[in-house]
Amino acid sequence: MDEVNLFDGKLNSDQRVRLRTVLDIIMDTHLAILAFVKTDDLGVRLLNNVYTVAIRNMKPRRAMHEEITGFLSVYGNVFLARSIRNILEEAADNTPDELCLYLHSLINAMPFHQLHRHNSEHILSRLDNVNRVYISRYLQQHLASTAASICLHHGMQIGNRILTWYSAAIDTNVASTRLKLASMLYCKGDLQMAANVLEDVERRYDNTVQAICGCGRMDPLVRKPRKEFTELLNEGDTDVLMTHKVAYCVRFLRQEVYCAPPILHFEMVRGVEDDIQHRRSNERGWMNWAVVDARPFLHYLQYLTFRDLGLRHRQLQALRTLRESILEDSRQHQMFHFETAANLLAHCWEMEGWIDDALRLYLALQTNMPRNNAANMHIRRLTNVL
Ligand SMILES: [Zn+2]
Repeated sequence: MDEVNLFDGKLNSDQRVRLRTVLDIIMDTHLAILAFVKTDDLGVRLLNNVYTVAIRNMKPRRAMHEEITGFLSVYGNVFLARSIRNILEEAADNTPDELCLYLHSLINAMPFHQLHRHNSEHILSRLDNVNRVYISRYLQQHLASTAASICLHHGMQIGNRILTWYSAAIDTNVASTRLKLASMLYCKGDLQMAANVLEDVERRYDNTVQAICGCGRMDPLVRKPRKEFTELLNEGDTDVLMTHKVAYCVRFLRQEVYCAPPILHFEMVRGVEDDIQHRRSNERGWMNWAVVDARPFLHYLQYLTFRDLGLRHRQLQALRTLRESILEDSRQHQMFHFETAANLLAHCWEMEGWIDDALRLYLALQTNMPRNNAANMHIRRLTNVL
């Protein structure tokens, strides 16, 4: 209620001082916990407000502590990435055509609050309009990729409308839509165009970019954002930084399969024997997809593209960078799908003819993660068990 202070007359001066001290301690050490206050949905509303202000029009104030800014930025992005994942999981069993219709209607309706108004528990009802517009733009990536996959499957041209959908989603983050576009171009056989897009991503993906995972493997309360990212947040244009300096995991739904390099198809069927029974609740949806961190996927796609263009020197450079980036990003906690990235590296070794090395790496990955790991399929493939 406006202008109503429920504390008025309830606390004496000593109590107010004590309350102030407690709140100061919370502000200094546990501010993040406010995002989890469930009363009146305070946490979600607070986050929506902060994110809205930050992404729209706020220049970071000096007074705002660097760490809090970084946390809120990462938390906001993880929250959005999880929301997008939840929306996509609802259509997991759709045919590609049905998924296109579903995404198309969702994208058109979402910014105007026309969905799920009857259901206050639905994730969409908990998002404010700015976030809905953002998600609506992001979902166009999946619409574009699903429609393009249908076209590639049936040998049809990929029309301008599909390219427009890619374009609408391109700036929702620095890498994932661009990489999906590059992957589609590679699968289509447009190698030079794919190489150009990959070069663009590599140029943008410097050491200030923060990787974001909405699959449940990134906990913003535990993992601090990278220092270079938070420093930028306190200096630059937040509107740009919130999108141009975060890289979401690259995700291919099963309905997008023809836009993904063939090796990623194994990730979509990574469960062998009773593996599926051993998935956590937040893994059941996305583990039916191929999900990979952006940076290793960038260099894997470069390896394939330069190979097919006959640019051997650049192909080998991409292989070296892929290996180095996996090691570096793992050390810096910027990698959330290590097993998939390492499977891609082992596949490059296969293509180089280093079969023993590739098999050893697959076996090491299997030991490290015995279940729900596509390495199991690759080991069977290499040892001709399949
Ligand atoms: Zn992820």
